[in-house]
Amino acid sequence: MREPLIATQNEPESLLGQVVRESRGHFYVRAGDETYICPVRSKLRKQLIYPESDSGLRGATSVRSIRDLNPIAVGDVVRITLGEGGKGAIDERLPRKTVLARRASGQRPIRQVIVANADQLLTVFAVVQPDFEPKLADRLLTSAEHADLPAVICINKIDLVAESDFRRIGDVYENVGYPVVYTSALRDTGIDGFRSALLGKLTVLAGPSGAGKSSLLNRIQPGLGLKIKEVSTVTGEGTHATTASQIFDLDMGGSVVDTPGIRYLDTWEIPLDELPELFPEMHPYIGQCRFTSCAHVEEPGCAVRQAAEEGAIASSRYESYRELSIELRDAEKRARHSSSS
Ligand code: GDP
Ligand code: ZN
Repeated sequence: MREPLIATQNEPESLLGQVVRESRGHFYVRAGDETYICPVRSKLRKQLIYPESDSGLRGATSVRSIRDLNPIAVGDVVRITLGEGGKGAIDERLPRKTVLARRASGQRPIRQVIVANADQLLTVFAVVQPDFEPKLADRLLTSAEHADLPAVICINKIDLVAESDFRRIGDVYENVGYPVVYTSALRDTGIDGFRSALLGKLTVLAGPSGAGKSSLLNRIQPGLGLKIKEVSTVTGEGTHATTASQIFDLDMGGSVVDTPGIRYLDTWEIPLDELPELFPEMHPYIGQCRFTSCAHVEEPGCAVRQAAEEGAIASSRYESYRELSIELRDAEKRARHSSSS
């Protein structure tokens, strides 16, 4: 670490910044008031292609062979060096606070980091039009738990149903401990709650299209929802794995990322035996089952299933758990089969 007391004119300038956008292998790095378009130095690229201990992956032994599709992602804090004419290149990636990733499309398991260093996941659902989908909600929430990201649930379009109907949906999640915000972008209801949920944080937005994400964002900052939609629709097309995303700043402080790739996050990298941990309301019952190896699906004497039958765990949540559990078990079977043949 050489730190000259006086930097000369010829000394390359080194800056810390955050990646706010990615496009075809170039990264838009914001440092102070400037944004620099930078490639990644090839030495760094090689170094980063295998996930490290800070990568946010649990169960590292089972996924050691998984490679990263993108060594640098939106949200990464990086060091860039500026050379001739203010052109920069990324030399270093600082440790990541959080990682939200998905499986890149294709046969081999390759991890695609969607956003690094996010503070929270905000899932937006409509009560109706489109109908609330508990399975999708629970899938997104387990992804957030797996990435150690706090999750907030926004239930929008409450102008379309009776209060008891939207409360019934929200109560399930409030009982688990998730903050729930009820809104109507149309009637301008609950927008203060939505705004304060976003204030000062880097928020990943997720939820089915049509739920009202753009409309809600427009309510807190006119024009913002439209801008985000443009990015999402442009990059949402095509089947290749470049799920480009972009960080948008909020005038009030804070920023949001929307990416089409996040709407149907898969839980591919979650080891089956860690799944119950991702359902916070199951924690008190884990270890209480008759069998220590209980998967909480069909085993006799299962304390989790009993809690679900008695109503202590919401039946929709338990159903989501069962479905994910069966899906992960089948995926692990397939993986074992293909590695032994
Ligand atoms: P996005 O795909 O999640 O960004 O959803 P949009 O913001 O584009 O909204 C989808 C549709 O739902 C649009 O026709 C909106 O006008 C409508 N919409 C959004 N919020 C509300 C709401 O609170 N109540 C009602 N009734 N309609 C809404
Ligand atoms: Zn059990």
